[in-house]
Amino acid sequence: MESKTYDVAIIGAGVVGLLVAYELSKFDLSIAIVEREAEPGFGVSKGHAGVIHVVQPPFNSLKSILAIYGNRLYDKVSRELKVDMVRLPALLVARSRAQLALIPVIYAILKLVYGVRGFKVSIVTGEELRLLEPNIEGYAAVMVEGYSVIDSFELIYRLLDECRARGVDLLFNTEARGFRFEDDIIVIETSRGSIKARYVVNSAGLDSDILASKTGGSERIKTFLGVMLVFDTLQVKSIVAPLPSLRPAKTKGGGIIPTVWGNTIWGPSFTIVASREDRGVRAEDIIDVIRRFKELVKIKGRLIKAYSGIRPSTINGDFSISYSPLTKRIINLVGIESPGLTAAPAIALIVAKMLRDAGLKLVATRRAPHRTIHALSTRAKLALNPSDISGYDGVVICPCMRVSLADIIEAIKRGASTLDGIIFRTKLGMGSCQGQHCIGRAIVILQKLTGASPRSLTKNTSGSWLVEELRVDRVEE
Ligand SMILES: Cc1cc2nc3c(=O)[nH]c(=O)nc-3n(C[C@H](O)[C@H](O)[C@H](O)COP(=O)(O)OP(=O)(O)OC[C@H]3O[C@@H](n4cnc5c(N)ncnc54)[C@H](O)[C@@H]3O)c2cc1C
Repeated sequence: MESKTYDVAIIGAGVVGLLVAYELSKFDLSIAIVEREAEPGFGVSKGHAGVIHVVQPPFNSLKSILAIYGNRLYDKVSRELKVDMVRLPALLVARSRAQLALIPVIYAILKLVYGVRGFKVSIVTGEELRLLEPNIEGYAAVMVEGYSVIDSFELIYRLLDECRARGVDLLFNTEARGFRFEDDIIVIETSRGSIKARYVVNSAGLDSDILASKTGGSERIKTFLGVMLVFDTLQVKSIVAPLPSLRPAKTKGGGIIPTVWGNTIWGPSFTIVASREDRGVRAEDIIDVIRRFKELVKIKGRLIKAYSGIRPSTINGDFSISYSPLTKRIINLVGIESPGLTAAPAIALIVAKMLRDAGLKLVATRRAPHRTIHALSTRAKLALNPSDISGYDGVVICPCMRVSLADIIEAIKRGASTLDGIIFRTKLGMGSCQGQHCIGRAIVILQKLTGASPRSLTKNTSGSWLVEELRVDRVEE
C-alpha cells in the first residue's frame, strides 16, 4: 500500500460510512474508505426494509432523535443524489370491530409522542381507509405522516459514484485489523498492508465493536435477525401494519411496505440470534411474518423471495457514537441498527462536527467534483415504452425488471465485480421470476467483460463462489 497519509480514513462502506465520506468530501480533505468486501453495501445495509422512519422507541433515545433529524435531511440527500424516494404515511389498522375501541387510545398516545415531534397523526374512518387502501381489510386506522420508502440500492451506488467523483479513495478487499500510533498519525493495520490517517471513523457495522475494542472501546454487539418477504405486486400505497395488540405478541414490528419500484415487502421479523453470521431464513420466521400480515391484504400476488438481515444492537439498544477512550482522533459508531438507514445523514453531520471538535480543519473545498451522470433509475426505466429503446439498451437480459445489456455494461464500468454488484445496481433478477432467465447470462457477461476467471467470481462476500466451473464456450449467447 502507498505511504500517503489521509486526513480521514473511514472503515466500512455501508450506508453510514458512505454518507460520512460524502459529507466530508465537501471539505478540502484527503479521504479513504477501507472496506473488506469487494463492493459497498454488502454488510447490514444490504438486508433492510428501505423505510425512512419517524420517531423510534424509546422516544428520547439517541436513535430516535437521529431518526427524526435524518428523516428531515433525506429530502435534500435524495434530491442531491437523484435517488428515488417516496413520502408516504403509515397506517395502523384495526382488523376487527373489537379493535375499534383501541383506535382513540392509540391515536392519543401517538399524538402525544409523534405529534409533538412534528409528525401529523389522525384517525382514518373505515370508509376513508377503503378509498386510501382498497386492498386492505380493516375497520379504521390511525395514520402517521412523514415516513418514506427509498431505493436504498440506488442510494449506496450513487453515494459511491459521488465519493469517487469527489476524489475519495475506495480501498476494497481491505480488512482493517488493528491500529498503531506514530506520533499524530494512526496506522491502520489491514489485510493488505498499512494505511495512515490523521483521523479514523470506525463505521464497520456488525464488527464495529471488535474494531473499537482495539483502542479500548467496551461496547459489545448483540445480534437480532430480521426476515423480510417480497411479493411481486404493489399491494399498498402506504406502510400498513396491524394495530398493536394489548396481548403480548410473538412477532415485533414490521409492516407491509411498498417499494419504490413496484413490489411489496412484508416484515421484518425480530429474532435473537447467537452469531453474526447466522443469516439463515428459517421456516418459522417466514410463518411468523405471514401470520402477522395475511389477514390484512386482500390480493397478495406471488411471494417471490425471503431475505434476512442482522441488526447490530448495543446491550442497551441505543446507538453508541463516541471517541475512542485512547484518542479523540478515532470515532466509533457502534450499534447502528434500525433505524440506521434513516439516521445515517444525521450521523454523518455529527461525525463531521466531532472531527472538527477533535481538531480537524474543515474548509469547504473549491474543487468542483467531476460530473457524475447517473444511470436511469429503476422506477424511470420501468415506466419507459419498450419501443423507444434501442441499441444495447434494447437487448433485454432481465425481462421482469427490464435490465438491458447496456445496464450491465454500465454497472461493470462503474465497478461491479460480483453478481450482487450487478444485481444491486440494476435490480437484475429481482422481479417475478427471480433470475431464472437472466442470472446465468449476467454471470457470463460479467466473466467476459471483466476477464475474471469463472472460478474467481463470487455472489457477494469473499468465498461465496458462484460456479465450480463455468464453460463460457457452451453457453449460448
Ligand atoms: C432486518 C433489518 C431491517 C432494517 N430496516 C431498516 C429500515 O427500514 N429503515 C432504517 O432506517 N434502518 C433499517 N435497518 C437498519 C439499517 O439497515 C442499518 O442501520 C444500516 O444499514 C447500518 O449501516 P452501516 O453502514 O452502519 O453498516 P454496514 O452496512 O454493515 O456497513 C459496515 C461495513 O463495514 C465493513 N467492515 C466490517 N468490518 C470491517 C473491517 N474490519 N475492515 C473493513 N471493513 C469492514 C462491512 O463489510 C460493511 O460493508 C434494518 C436493519 C435490519 C437488519
